[in-house]
Amino acid sequence: MILAKAEPATDLSSHALNLVDCGLIIVDADHRIVLWNSWMVSRSARAAARVAGESLFDVFPELRGSRVESALSGRQATRIPQSQSRAPFPLREAGSFDGARIDQAVTVSPFDDGKAHFWMIEIRDISGTLDRERQLLDHAEALRARSYVDGLTGIANRRYFDVALDRELRRAQRLGGALSLLMMDIDSFKAYNDHFGHQQGDGCLTAVAQALAAMLKRPADVAARYGGEEFAAILPDTTAEQARVHAESIRAHVAALGLPHSPAAARAHVTLSIGVASYDKERLNTAAGLIEAADKGLYAAKRAGRDRVVVDGDAT
Ligand code: GH3
Ligand code: MG
Ligand code: MG
Repeated sequence: MILAKAEPATDLSSHALNLVDCGLIIVDADHRIVLWNSWMVSRSARAAARVAGESLFDVFPELRGSRVESALSGRQATRIPQSQSRAPFPLREAGSFDGARIDQAVTVSPFDDGKAHFWMIEIRDISGTLDRERQLLDHAEALRARSYVDGLTGIANRRYFDVALDRELRRAQRLGGALSLLMMDIDSFKAYNDHFGHQQGDGCLTAVAQALAAMLKRPADVAARYGGEEFAAILPDTTAEQARVHAESIRAHVAALGLPHSPAAARAHVTLSIGVASYDKERLNTAAGLIEAADKGLYAAKRAGRDRVVVDGDAT
């Protein structure tokens, strides 16, 4: 540290100034450097003796026109937080000459010692703080994404289903388009669990969910776990007849996986029953109405023997 022109500091205070964990620069009324602490030496790679008496703007020409320069003409303390803009001082991690510039929060405080005018510039390294903030934001984003994913099967969960159905329903209403909903339920799944155990039951749910998701090709289609061993598919721009064809190919695809079922089940392999309902401007225009109608179809499919598709309006 140097002290030029200004009053000599006591040994104790000069030790303290060299120990503080921030950069300290004092400039006089002509912006000439009178104090430069050790923190500045290691981050700027400039010895105190080299900058003593130099104009701050000769040492760091890029400060001209910066917010630091305007703060140095004011009579009030100014805080310059790290903004989206570049950190004002070309300072790097101690010992690194080509590393990234450290993020800085800068405070400029004018003061008088009774005879002359000075400014003290404090520079804090807030890189860690910004990193932590970024980490927190990333974490929040990941949590938001995860809160829409079913933990077991990896497809969308019920919460996402509700949001998506609502969104697609509004869209269909606005544009007068088609929209279909499939409700699916694994047949005799209780028997599956009883025979193979819950763990393998979970594996079966995951396999069916993944097969279902793979069958939905359009970006706006949504495959979701509605709850337990029930799944749902939202198919925008899809009429009831198109949805019937789609549901039938999903049913056939899951059956063709050939996942062995319990001997107590009607089929030797795992199957799905599917109910289908489609948006209708007059009759089926709410989420609750659509779900209820698709559920009716699903239970009609169960009653009719399972492993089949029933579309809302089919004679049962
Ligand atoms: P149906 O053909 O009429 O649908 O008969 P079902 O046996 O599938 O119907 P039921 O509603 O009686 O049984 C559903 C079973 O699904 C019971 C429950 O233990 C099981 N189940 C629900 N959620 C999970 C899960 O997360 N993991 C496992 N392994 N089983 C589940
Ligand atoms: Mg069920
Ligand atoms: Mg079932």
